[in-house]
Amino acid sequence: MAKCRGCDKEIEWIKTPTGKAMPVDVEVITIVTLKGEVVKGHIPHWATCPAAQRFKRK
Ligand SMILES: [Zn+2]
Repeated sequence: MAKCRGCDKEIEWIKTPTGKAMPVDVEVITIVTLKGEVVKGHIPHWATCPAAQRFKRK
């Protein structure tokens, strides 16, 4: 399993529909979309990473 270079937390890499790799938190959560659909998914890691500022600057 991969680890975040910024905060050392375990992450997973998900492929987006555009073929890009996106780092996400390992936990799967259930959310309701704005359309009322219930879906399961991961939180993008940059949303929770305390070191996310560093990614943007790169
Ligand atoms: Zn991180």
